[in-house]
Amino acid sequence: MKIKDVRATTVSVPLEAPLRHANGCHWGRFVRTIVEVETDNGLVGLGETGGGGEAAEATFRGLKSYLVGRDPARLEELRFLISNPTASLYNDRTQILAAIEFACLDILGQAWRVPVAEILGGRLRDQVPFASYLFFRYPNSADGTGEVRTEEQLVAHARDLKRRYGFSTHKLKGGVFAPAYELACYRALAAALPGDRLRFDPNAVWSTEQAMEFGRAIENLNNDYLEDPVFGLNGMRRAHQKLRVPLATNTVVVNFEQLAANILDPAIDVVLLDTTFWGGIRPCVKAAAICETFQFGVSVHSSGELGIQLATMLHLGAIIPNFTFAADAHYHHLVDDIILGGKMRYEGGSIAVPDSPGLGVMLDRDKVAKYAEAYKRLGPYAYDQDPLRPGWTPTIPNSRWADPEDERIPKISF
Ligand SMILES: [Mg+2]
Repeated sequence: MKIKDVRATTVSVPLEAPLRHANGCHWGRFVRTIVEVETDNGLVGLGETGGGGEAAEATFRGLKSYLVGRDPARLEELRFLISNPTASLYNDRTQILAAIEFACLDILGQAWRVPVAEILGGRLRDQVPFASYLFFRYPNSADGTGEVRTEEQLVAHARDLKRRYGFSTHKLKGGVFAPAYELACYRALAAALPGDRLRFDPNAVWSTEQAMEFGRAIENLNNDYLEDPVFGLNGMRRAHQKLRVPLATNTVVVNFEQLAANILDPAIDVVLLDTTFWGGIRPCVKAAAICETFQFGVSVHSSGELGIQLATMLHLGAIIPNFTFAADAHYHHLVDDIILGGKMRYEGGSIAVPDSPGLGVMLDRDKVAKYAEAYKRLGPYAYDQDPLRPGWTPTIPNSRWADPEDERIPKISF
């Protein structure tokens, strides 16, 4: 079996409402690039990567000459072919490698008639639990719905998600408003959802002192962890020395060199494994095994997925023994997906690990065409800009917080 073709299509899929974060905003949609790797025996494996748009499509086109004629089972060789660590000094293709690895694993699963989880060690669980991923949200530009800005709106949103999807863990994405305002919001969540687990992530924009104040004020809550309160492995180490709440990261332990540094001189308690950031599902499995040996916690990070990447997260969550926290997913903010059958369903806060061969998801060609057309019409969006604060640039540590009294609705097409 040999690779015959590689295709990439960028899509723009709408969200319920724009998601605000420390660097800016997801402007009412996710831009993702869908990758198809086709073999000479007619199999098509699926991959997905983040919002590079035309640049991502061109990168995959450029890789075609590397990949055509290769055996999709040679996954270790693929790692050096696409993302050799020394060549990566000039051309970091870790996330590109991830999308190709997903597609090759999908092909192997289809060829061998087993789900990807069974190739990578076999499932330990049939469902993967997820956290409700709560964002401060701007109102939807079309109808003014979906705003999350006040404590009351946040609590109502979390309760609604719990009722609809069954979540019992809740992650609040902060770093938008001043820490004292977000602390009050987090406390309101804890009071409204007694017994549920909580986590908070300000995307590394606080000073150590702000992190200390916040971390100490939440010690009595059901925290899984405080995620990236400050930036940098050394910054996190200093916060770690001063706080009792466990610390997690998806920013400064995202490769094996950093994982080794964290083991030699710990700064992070819980490593959030991202199938894209680490270069595939298999590197995440390897990293989880290292964390198991040294007794660090692991969980599954979300970088804004559609159904293909969600499937990679499900297969990963199914097989790692030390997966003791609910996974993160932006998925419930999406209004649609590009996979056959529509969006995957939550039951009791969990999503079932796909049973069919490979990743277990197939493309809905009509949806891909519809959302590819949407991307052509709308183009990319500025992830690191706020639609209502043109020219704003957050610093680290940040002091240029948004105003929680600002009720304006951004005018965004999506
Ligand atoms: Mg994070």
